[in-house]
Amino acid sequence: MAGVQTAVALREQGHAGPVTLVGAETHQPYDRPPLSKAVLLGKAEGSAFDIDFKALGIGLRLGTEVTGVRLAERELDTAAGPVPYDVLVLASGAEPVRLPGTEGVPGVHLLRTLDDAERLRPVLAEQHDVVVVGAGWIGAEFATAAREAGCSVTVVEAAGRPLAGALPADVAAPMAAWYAHSGAELRTHARVERVEPGAVVLSDGARLPAGAVVVGIGARPATRWLAGSGIELGAHGEVVADDHLRSSAPDVYAVGDCSSFPSGRYGERLLVHHWDNALQGPRTVAANILGDTPVAYDPVPYFWSEQFGRFVQYAGHHAEGDELVWRGDPAGVAWSVCWLRDGALAAVLAVGRPRDLAQGRKLIEAGTRLDPALVTDPSVPLKKAAL
Ligand SMILES: Cc1cc2nc3c(=O)[nH]c(=O)nc-3n(C[C@H](O)[C@H](O)[C@H](O)COP(=O)(O)OP(=O)(O)OC[C@H]3O[C@@H](n4cnc5c(N)ncnc54)[C@H](O)[C@@H]3O)c2cc1C
Repeated sequence: MAGVQTAVALREQGHAGPVTLVGAETHQPYDRPPLSKAVLLGKAEGSAFDIDFKALGIGLRLGTEVTGVRLAERELDTAAGPVPYDVLVLASGAEPVRLPGTEGVPGVHLLRTLDDAERLRPVLAEQHDVVVVGAGWIGAEFATAAREAGCSVTVVEAAGRPLAGALPADVAAPMAAWYAHSGAELRTHARVERVEPGAVVLSDGARLPAGAVVVGIGARPATRWLAGSGIELGAHGEVVADDHLRSSAPDVYAVGDCSSFPSGRYGERLLVHHWDNALQGPRTVAANILGDTPVAYDPVPYFWSEQFGRFVQYAGHHAEGDELVWRGDPAGVAWSVCWLRDGALAAVLAVGRPRDLAQGRKLIEAGTRLDPALVTDPSVPLKKAAL
């Protein structure tokens, strides 16, 4: 996504010289969000980007894994030989974290690539008993699709609630009920001891029958190929970019899931693994490659998830200590949560309330202070809560 968007943005912003996209996968570049939704259920064949790369003069080198970068020579290493560059944009994304000890065990799946989704389609079609490891975004979306396909679904989560890494306990608590309503069993505080062919064994001895196991326990930046290159990597293995999305090496930029950037708006470094970041970041990268005046990247992060019949959206970034304000009843079908920092909206989570999201995003962007008493009233449009 970020690589494709960078190439397109370079053309849109007037770059006339050669642009080459190098990617390990053999498929035409494609969009990932549909993989856990329409593609998985067979409602869409694929999700290739509707972009005429040839007409745009963008060279595609597919099926080409980059194994290293030599900064002094300005060259990438591939099995097919070196690829020279004047400017390099790192957009290698993220790779799913594997469950230790499951490599080579038949029936264990990840969900990151089109190939993964294609392997999982028959699992859904044949209505296997499925065990999902991890109640994060991917786990929830996969469980949704598997229930829709008629599979029996058990979701195993080591933490005490879904989305433990992303949302505070009281915000995530109502989401646990969504699993049960869909007919999926959510087992929290549950650790996988081992996966055997046909079963998942938990550390409390429980044995869950599993025709297939889908592991969704997070993703980490796909940067192993940069080890020893001299490009600075951060605590999560991500490329450390500056506010202009430049890496520590000259003429090397980094964007999308593989890199973090310092957020001026939130006063901390953000590592964002969401689609919108892979759309917005590339525009800044292209502007900084081509322009004389550096452009800072300081977005209001945004993402969405479709799970258990609900449209979940989030904009901004919250931290411990922000004031949490509820809008609406979390037991209902539509509600939101706002986080206020020093009276201004820092983040909004909207479940089935896209207007809250749209208005909230603008209020965050503008740094508007809100009246918490009005924010709590879901019948008052969020923008009317502005002070
Ligand atoms: C199943 C799924 C569903 C999602 N749904 C949502 C959603 O609903 N909402 C949302 O906001 N976000 C969603 N996301 C997240 C979103 O898709 C990602 O944030 C986005 O794809 C990131 O773009 P990227 O270009 O940084 O990485 P990617 O899209 O992963 O692209 C990186 C590419 O680099 C290639 N690559 C890696 N290393 C090398 C190498 N050494 N040599 C050559 N090529 C290499 C990879 O093969 C890959 O094709 C979803 C992700 C997945 C996996």
